[in-house]
Amino acid sequence: MPKRILLVGAGLSGAVIGRALAEAGNAVTVIDERAHIAGNCHTERDAESGIMVHVYGPHIFHTDDDRVWDYVNRFETFMPYVNRVKTTSAGRVYSLPVNLHTINQFFGKCFRPDEARQFIESLSDTSIAEPGTFEEQALRFVGKDLYEAFFKGYTIKQWGCDPNDLPASILKRLPVRFNYDDNYFFHRHQGMPANGYTGMIGKILAHEGIEVHLNRRFSRSDAAEFDHVFYSGPLDGYFDCELGRLGYRTLDFEMFRHDGDYQGCAVMNYGDAEVPYTRITEHKHFSPWEKHEKSVCYKEYSRACGPDDIPYYPIRMAEEKALLGQYVERARRERQVTFVGRLGTYRYLDMDVTIREALDAAEAYVRNGGEIPPF
Ligand code: UDP
Repeated sequence: MPKRILLVGAGLSGAVIGRALAEAGNAVTVIDERAHIAGNCHTERDAESGIMVHVYGPHIFHTDDDRVWDYVNRFETFMPYVNRVKTTSAGRVYSLPVNLHTINQFFGKCFRPDEARQFIESLSDTSIAEPGTFEEQALRFVGKDLYEAFFKGYTIKQWGCDPNDLPASILKRLPVRFNYDDNYFFHRHQGMPANGYTGMIGKILAHEGIEVHLNRRFSRSDAAEFDHVFYSGPLDGYFDCELGRLGYRTLDFEMFRHDGDYQGCAVMNYGDAEVPYTRITEHKHFSPWEKHEKSVCYKEYSRACGPDDIPYYPIRMAEEKALLGQYVERARRERQVTFVGRLGTYRYLDMDVTIREALDAAEAYVRNGGEIPPF
């Protein structure tokens, strides 16, 4: 018996779950309060230059999950793209993630891999056996000088707090390499959708069993018309923030234009605390297979997310985790609703993990004949 399913949010989670459930013969409605699909992955061509702009900041697709890679390639051609990030610190430009080039540039050396490894070990604070915080992780693995040049100021700007209050897991996203590999990611698959993420998500949603309604805000009373709801909006927002607000960082982008090439790369980070933005992104470099004379750049600023701002990064410090636990308890009691995605589960999720979890959630729903364990 086909079910009537409501997907709240037309981002990656909503589109992938919606598609899978429509293919399984269900009647799917997707709503989104914004005027466009694709959530924070939304891309659009700049009217003046034709450059594909990552409207809510850079999104680079990378994964080790073959199933996810096959899935995205089913809908969109992925063009070769390797994320090579640079950082500016104290008036000099360095290669990221920290690699042999960075170490040799920074310390003015010509180390070979083993020498660099020994040198960095000699700088490391070995009294920290089990790093618990961001700062401890940095001091243990790169030492004080590299930490202060590349991570401390950037992280204070990005997260608005002392790096000692942040979990080590945030820094564990970044490797330290003792070779000249400056690929920011180490996954086997990496690329950019030829027609942007909105093009890809549009194709995922293009199925006769899916209706999409934009500019439509969810209200809990909508659920009455459906057999099941997959909710990818903010978890606290679902409960009208009755227990308090879960903390997020939001981003502001200051767009500027440039004739020619502004910075020669897609992403330039700024490690100094005195520079108010965290990074500048030059969007044409995210589509290196296209040729553009003009340029569109974003200066990216991070700040605490207010009630009317767009949530980006869940903060997940001790206080938020306690509140999250209370919301999860309430979410578990919502029998007819499954909470999905970055906002619905309040986690720092990469796109590939979001897709994988969405595929798994849809499969679990189909397998169990419409029942799915909530949350
Ligand atoms: N980070 C940093 N300096 C950099 C790049 C990253 O200190 O130049 C820290 C920062 O705290 C950031 C974390 O490492 O939140 C993870 O970096 P990643 O590039 O994965 O962040 P994202 O692209 O998700 O914003």
